[in-house]
Amino acid sequence: MLTPKEKMGIAPQAMPEQDAKERATNMREVALGYTAEQAQTEASRCLQCKNAPCVKGCPVGIDIPGFLRQAADGDFAGAYATISASSLLPAVCGRVCPQEKQCQKDCTMGKALKDVSKAVAIGRVERYCADLARESGGAALPEIAPETGKKVAVVGSGPAGITVAADVRRAGHSVVLFEAFHKAGGVLVYGIPEFRLPKDAVVQPEIANMAHLGVKIELDVVVGKSTTIDQLMEDEGFDAVFVGSGAGLPMFMGIPGEQALGVFSANEYLTRANLMKAYDEDHADTPYWHGKRVAVLGGGNVAMDASRMALRLGAEKVYLVYRRSLDEMPARREEIHHAKEEGVEFHMLENAKRILGDDKGFVCGMECLKYELGEPDASGRRSPVAIAGSEFTLDVDTVVVAVGNASNPLIPATTEGLEINKRGNIVVDPETNMTSIPGVFAGGDIVLGAATVILAMGEGRAAAKACNARLAGTL
Ligand SMILES: Cc1cc2nc3c(=O)[nH]c(=O)nc-3n(C[C@H](O)[C@H](O)[C@H](O)COP(=O)(O)OP(=O)(O)OC[C@H]3O[C@@H](n4cnc5c(N)ncnc54)[C@H](O)[C@@H]3O)c2cc1C
Repeated sequence: MLTPKEKMGIAPQAMPEQDAKERATNMREVALGYTAEQAQTEASRCLQCKNAPCVKGCPVGIDIPGFLRQAADGDFAGAYATISASSLLPAVCGRVCPQEKQCQKDCTMGKALKDVSKAVAIGRVERYCADLARESGGAALPEIAPETGKKVAVVGSGPAGITVAADVRRAGHSVVLFEAFHKAGGVLVYGIPEFRLPKDAVVQPEIANMAHLGVKIELDVVVGKSTTIDQLMEDEGFDAVFVGSGAGLPMFMGIPGEQALGVFSANEYLTRANLMKAYDEDHADTPYWHGKRVAVLGGGNVAMDASRMALRLGAEKVYLVYRRSLDEMPARREEIHHAKEEGVEFHMLENAKRILGDDKGFVCGMECLKYELGEPDASGRRSPVAIAGSEFTLDVDTVVVAVGNASNPLIPATTEGLEINKRGNIVVDPETNMTSIPGVFAGGDIVLGAATVILAMGEGRAAAKACNARLAGTL
């Protein structure tokens, strides 16, 4: 048994990565994953604190000291079982969760070393355990209770919908999951790029598990068009509905020239590349825009993904244009670091004023303004203030707008009595995730606004619990 002092002396294990220059031209995963030895060494850094601040920071409350202890002992299968008791998508969360803002934020090791980046790398060990379980075929399916004869419809196959479908199915109810796209997975398949989250190797097995549990997946069904929530409840005999339709409505800048050819929402840009595999020109029919000088507007994870994707789609120059400074940027530090390493040029304290089009309507430049920081705004960050007369032009042929996503109004517009707030998000009871319509639950981005995978899962878990209780007559 190592003493705390000895644990503090163990060097944090760096994540092996593809070389930056090489990876910027391929779609393979950037982070290569720990070896068994690294996973065990990193796990052994955990101080096993009694108060476990890491667990408090995890939206689904994984027993983190528990699984790290098992991993430190080399019991990776046990560690995977511990993680799986609380999280349905550990291979996904180990890769994309913002751990530095959640479980790793208050890690005692990070605090003791006065550097959050030296906290125990919980997500990386989680990823190792989940990958190993999957690759060795050892990820056992959970047991299913005897059939109840009740039917539940789940709308949307993102992390919220996947979690609800599995948890409700486990209680013995029959579940049909409706997805608008031709592939299930939500943002995990259409938004987050292959080079951060491999689709066939990591996401699809999770979807397949849902089908193995007996969840029926109906693709290409747009609820609100092909059918409605009312029809599902009244005509199609569903006893409950969960709405996990996400926040897939892209926002634009509202500036002149935004209609020019060569301006994309990050959603469309990424969906073409990820879901429709546009990068795989030899096999996919999806056309994509061969932009050579690309400006990406925004400072979140979506902007990082779009700019890094632009490099991989053959752009010679990619400018990340953000109106505040690096300190205010909401993207994960790791993604910022990766984007810079790969060659994305960061243009801080600048923003687009208008997009310039040529005589055929194609983008031929972007007029920008320089900014400085003023007083903090409602978000608590210093507000960007345009500097009068600071106009300059960026020579670009493509502009990708990544300034946020809102919820799609289709389901609220076609569901009488469904309460939404002023941002268009569905209003739910915070305990049960039930909406204003009895028996209709909602969760994930459609409730929270654009958030994170693990928060969507946490919402799904709460909604499934309440839905199961309602169907059992105890709610
Ligand atoms: C590019 C990008 C990168 C991101 N990176 C990260 C990251 O690194 N880490 C992180 O934690 N989070 C990240 N996020 C956010 C995260 O992916 C979301 O918070 C999460 O996926 C929300 O889950 P959800 O289940 O609520 O919705 P979604 O994942 O959006 O899934 C909703 C599903 O519902 C379907 N749908 C919508 N309307 C209908 C309808 N009417 N009928 C039928 N189906 C419908 C959609 O097609 C979609 O498949 C990222 C988001 C984007 C866009």
